[in-house]
Amino acid sequence: MKDQFGWALDNSYGNLPEIFYKRMDANPVSAPKVVMFNHQLADSLQLSSDLLQKEEGAETLSGSRFPEHAEPIAQAYAGHQFGHFNMLGDGRAMLIGEHLTGDQRYDIQLKGSGRTPFSRGGDGRAALGPMLREYIISEAMHALHIPTTRSLAVTLTGDKIQREKVLPGAVLTRVASSHLRVGTFQYAAAFGDTEDLQALAFYAIDRHYPDVKNSANPNLAFLEEVIKRQAELVAKWQLIGFVHGVMNTDNMTISGETIDYGPCAFMNEYDPATVFSSIDREGRYAYGNQPYMAAWNLARFAESLLPILDEDEKKAVELAQEAISSFSAAYEMEWLKGMRKKLGLFYDEKEDAVLIKELLELMQTHHADYTNTFLALTFHLQEENSLFNEKDFMKWHEKWQNRLSKQDKSKEEVQELMKKHNPAVVPRNHLVEEALEAAEKSGNYEVMNELLQVLSQPFSHSGEIQQKYRNAPAATDQPYVTYCGT
Ligand code: AMP
Ligand code: MG
Repeated sequence: MKDQFGWALDNSYGNLPEIFYKRMDANPVSAPKVVMFNHQLADSLQLSSDLLQKEEGAETLSGSRFPEHAEPIAQAYAGHQFGHFNMLGDGRAMLIGEHLTGDQRYDIQLKGSGRTPFSRGGDGRAALGPMLREYIISEAMHALHIPTTRSLAVTLTGDKIQREKVLPGAVLTRVASSHLRVGTFQYAAAFGDTEDLQALAFYAIDRHYPDVKNSANPNLAFLEEVIKRQAELVAKWQLIGFVHGVMNTDNMTISGETIDYGPCAFMNEYDPATVFSSIDREGRYAYGNQPYMAAWNLARFAESLLPILDEDEKKAVELAQEAISSFSAAYEMEWLKGMRKKLGLFYDEKEDAVLIKELLELMQTHHADYTNTFLALTFHLQEENSLFNEKDFMKWHEKWQNRLSKQDKSKEEVQELMKKHNPAVVPRNHLVEEALEAAEKSGNYEVMNELLQVLSQPFSHSGEIQQKYRNAPAATDQPYVTYCGT
């Protein structure tokens, strides 16, 4: 069932009721050329790196022709964008199929592959810069152990696209455990009947939460599991200092993977109000708001499931509310668990939450860099970090040392734990921009490949090479603004 490239495509999504997708034809581009290729991911998917980068391979990666057994579709979905409900759908992407390796199933999506029935006024295309950006950040997130969609390739189309400026068009080949979104369920609830909704829920359960089939109320157990998975995901974002930027309900997956890297960025100085997106003027999706926005999105998810939670409407609402109210405790628990590890704490103590809160407040007061402060704590880099000269911080440091000394763990054991949870490097915006500029302006992908190499081992703490990428940007370089939908 494999073709020459190694694609082994199935199309289970096409068995859902027809309202969930539109079939797609090939949409040829002028001169497809693969400019970024993820060899390691290709190997793990048992694909032929060699053939995929050649002419015919580039054609399949750009949507100019389809591999064997592909039954390409554009998926229908809706979503709340900045709080407003809209009909959306894959307006510039298509799913060419689900690639099977053993018992794993991966969606293969081409992003930027042209117009679809859901394109509305858009051209269905994507510019090179934003596709490279998604490639870098998604691969960095993966290396940081954060569930995410992956990037297999970026392929130049050879066509120009019109944005504020004329830009080179490109297609990102995205690999995901699925593209089911909160917005897919909102679409089913708004535009389908109860049977459609139930079919979608069963499909999602089969694909991502097969264990809930044994529960007394599988749909409710499904809701509870998605809430738990998202609580874990957003806690991981907070722990690493990641700001997604567009947490619309169509950009929240049912699988619990991070998806759609638009105006996302990593925080430099610790500040809960950190926001990078040019379109997020009110800070709806600011760093400190992310857990609340996740809960808000999950409430929309629960609402869309109401018709299948219980036959009695009132009972269904009660069940949904109860499930939603579990988010904050699940989130807090995950976050605290992660923070303890970042501070080398092996066991729980009641006062830990206060200790952590005090550290964050000190970081905010003294404009300390989030990632580098934890690194300084891990490696005792007093000289490198001005925070260590502050009196109030010194007091906190003593308190932390006292807390550490209560554990029967050696200094080395504490440091090992901290090394595993505090990355040496994150894809800071100034690094990402540098790499994108070299690629976009002069076709130089070296800078990007070097950056990706460093970002692929954030916990190796291997010294010299990482050092170059560790510095926070000069204060004048802030704040960065990132743009989405481009
Ligand atoms: P995103 O910002 O990528 O999450 O996209 C939000 C919605 O806008 C989705 O329905 C996209 O398919 C659609 N969209 C974004 N850019 C384009 C484009 N250039 N052409 C058509 N639809 C687009
Ligand atoms: Mg999206």
